[in-house]
This record gives sequence, structure tokens and C-alpha cells, in this order.
Amino acid sequence: MAAHETRDVAVIGAGPAGAVAAVMLARRGTDVLVLERETFPRFSIGESLLPQSMPVLERAGVIGAVTDHGFQLKNGASFRRGPKTSVIDFREKYTEGWGTTFQVQRATFDKILADQIEPVGGALRFGQTITGVAFDARSAVLNVRDRAGRDYEVRARFVLDASGFGRVLPRLLGLEEDAKLTNRQALFVHVRDRITDEQFDRNKILITVHPDEPDIWYWLIPFSDGTSSLGVVGRPAQVAARGTGHRDQLWGLVTEAVELKQLLNDAEETRDVGSIAGYSRRASALHGRNYALLGNAGEFLDPVFSSGVTIALKSADLVVDPVMRHLAGKTVDWEEEYSKSLRVGIDTFRHFVQAWYDGSLQKIIFSTPGDNHSIQRMVVSVLAGYAWDQSNPFVSETERYLSALAGQLS
Ligand SMILES: Cc1cc2nc3c(=O)[nH]c(=O)nc-3n(C[C@H](O)[C@H](O)[C@H](O)COP(=O)(O)OP(=O)(O)OC[C@H]3O[C@@H](n4cnc5c(N)ncnc54)[C@H](O)[C@@H]3O)c2cc1C
Repeated sequence: MAAHETRDVAVIGAGPAGAVAAVMLARRGTDVLVLERETFPRFSIGESLLPQSMPVLERAGVIGAVTDHGFQLKNGASFRRGPKTSVIDFREKYTEGWGTTFQVQRATFDKILADQIEPVGGALRFGQTITGVAFDARSAVLNVRDRAGRDYEVRARFVLDASGFGRVLPRLLGLEEDAKLTNRQALFVHVRDRITDEQFDRNKILITVHPDEPDIWYWLIPFSDGTSSLGVVGRPAQVAARGTGHRDQLWGLVTEAVELKQLLNDAEETRDVGSIAGYSRRASALHGRNYALLGNAGEFLDPVFSSGVTIALKSADLVVDPVMRHLAGKTVDWEEEYSKSLRVGIDTFRHFVQAWYDGSLQKIIFSTPGDNHSIQRMVVSVLAGYAWDQSNPFVSETERYLSALAGQLS
């Protein structure tokens, strides 16, 4: 490994955003190097994809590797509150395109994507932590520490920060901002679920709302190997009210949701209970001179609609053309071409998240389906991840349409 090296593009992080951006750039002949702190496979939270992810995986030419693996198919979501159930089928949506996707163990999914980088001419190094950055007029210099503790530098004409919750450039450049969403905590585990097909359709994510505190909710994401991801989200005070250890808190909360507890009566943990808090974050800008932020490094809202990987992949998809033009010496309007385009979907999801926690979206989801199928299809479209289709009024005027719809139900 050279002490100094020069690349067209350096990518920080090999999660979905970084890996897919690198594959797309390498396919177009760019000299791209991905530097990843961990060694894959590694665990990551964020296991339920949305159908909007699929066209991006197609455009990157990696869809075959994903579909061939045998991940659990996902065609919708089942929402439960007490005895009430509302089932959403993603195939009954307004926007054209994929209506199905997968529920994935991220250790495997992320490794599959990262494995696509080198065959198309990109470079990937595991065990490399970015510790600093400096910019000049034409390039960026990254300080890297390898797994043996040796420091070296990589110069790149452009840097893509896809470091997820690591948020490397926002931290180093002081771009971190309050996401203006309530601080919440998630507890999660994997279980051998022993759920039968009669009890639950594994092709769906199950979102359960707490019977008395509707801002507490649970996810159950079945995988194809008989295990599931189980998690609960609440405010830290609500979690702390259930005891001290994460394990007791998680299972204490699950016990309060009687129907979910019944489903998991024979479940057995297959990994330790994990916890993550304060994950809603945003950066004040998604680009700057010679860099752009992808996926979670730019912004993360909330897990409730499984939008994280979709936004990460969309950011990779949107950034490639501007980067290619930048490398070709052309002028790029980063705000217009990247930031504003990406924020269309982020903002749509933000309004959906806010409406979930203020109760209006829960009211819509648990209402008896009316005759207006076209409105239902528009809402389902956003829940399937098609949050960038501005012909859908629930995208172009999200707040107005959500509150009007909820208002009709009161
Ligand atoms: C509780 C919870 C539940 C979630 N559930 C879902 C879900 O069901 N579906 C969904 O789509 N999303 C979900 N998400 C969001 C999802 O986890 C993320 O949005 C997604 O992983 C973002 O992808 P990414 O490529 O931006 O970053 P990541 O997948 O986080 O990848 C970033 C990579 O950068 C590396 N890195 C970090 N720092 C450095 C450094 N200094 N140097 C080098 N490398 C570095 C990391 O090791 C990591 O591999 C959830 C999030 C939370 C908090």
C-alpha cells in the first residue's frame, strides 16, 4: 500500500450507499477507492427494504446478485394495534415499477453489494478508518488509519462520504444539525421465531403499535431462514421505565403488546439485544467543494417506514452523474442536481414520520379502507418508497394531503 496515493473518487464506507455508488462509478470507468472501517460481513441494523430500492440495484447492475441469494421476499406491511390489523400490499400502488423487494440480513446483503465493487474495476479496502480530511481547490486529502494502526493519506479529486452513522465529514467539518425529530431509542435482537405460515405471512414486515402508548412501536422482520429481526422504538424515558438492562426492557415491552407476544411465544434469541439512540440527524449541507454526503451520512430520519436503505441507494443513484461531470471538468449545480433532488424523498418521508407520531397517519392506516382506491394507491406508493414521484400529490404536497385525508376520517 503506497504511503500517498491519488484517486479520482474516494468513498468513505462500504454500506449500501457507498458500495452502490462505487459500482456505478467504476462501471463508468472512474478510478474509485472505497475505504471501510469494518471487515465484512458485519452486522448492521436496517433489514427491511422498500421496492423503490430495486430499480437502483438494477441500474447498478447488481440486482442479479441480490435476487439470486434467496432473501425473504417482501410484498407489503402489516400494521397491528391490539386486535386491529391493516395489511398494505406494495403491488397495489400508484407509481409504476417494482412492487416487491426483500427482507435482508444486512451482514450478507452489504457483503454481496461490496463484493460487486472489484469485479467492475473499483478498489475496496476493509479495516481502514478515516480520521481526518483537508480540502484544496482541486482535491481532498483523507487521513486513513489501517487496521495495524499505520497512518497514510489518500488524495482524491472527489470524496463521497457514505459513512452512515459514522457521519465522518459532518463531524470533521462541523456540519451536524438537529434533525428536529424527537429523540428516540431502539432495542433490537434476532430470534429463531418458530412462527407458522398460519400465524403470519413472512412476506411482510409486521409493525405493531403499543396498546396504550401509540408512539411506542415494534418491528418484526421475518427472514427466509426461520429467524426474524425484532425491535422496539420508544422515547428513552419510556424504555427506561421498563427496567434497567436492554434485554429486560425489550422483552418487557414485547410482553405489553399481547398479540405480538403470542406470536413470539416460542422464539429464542440468536444474538444479543442491541440498542441505538439519538439516531435522527442531518447535515446542514449535502455537498461542498469536492465532496458530497450519501445516505445516513447526510441525514437519517426514523426507522418506522424502513426508508433508510432506500434513501441511501437513491443518493448513490443521484450522485453519479454530477460526479462524472465534475471529473470531466464541467460545472455542476450541486444544490439543484443533487441536494434538491434527494431532499424531495427525504422531505416526503419526514412528513410521513411526523404524521405517524402525531397520530394522523396511524388513523389513516387503521381506518376502514374507503372506496377511493386511487388515494389509497398514492399512500401505498410512498410506503413502498416511491417518495420521489412528484406526480403523486402525497409527494408534491405531502403535509396538505396527509392532513386533509386524516381530517376526513375524524
Ligand atoms: C433502529 C433502526 C432501524 C432501522 N431499520 C431500517 C429498515 O428496516 N430498513 C431500512 O431501509 N433502513 C433502516 N434503518 C436505517 C438503515 O440502517 C440505514 O439508513 C442504512 O444502513 C444507511 O446506509 P448507508 O450506506 O448510508 O450507511 P451504513 O449502512 O451505516 O454504512 C456505513 C459504513 O461506513 C463505515 N464507516 C463509518 N465510519 C467510518 C470511518 N471513519 N471510516 C471508514 N468507514 C467508516 C461503517 O463501518 C459502515 O459499514 C434503521 C435504522 C435504525 C436506527
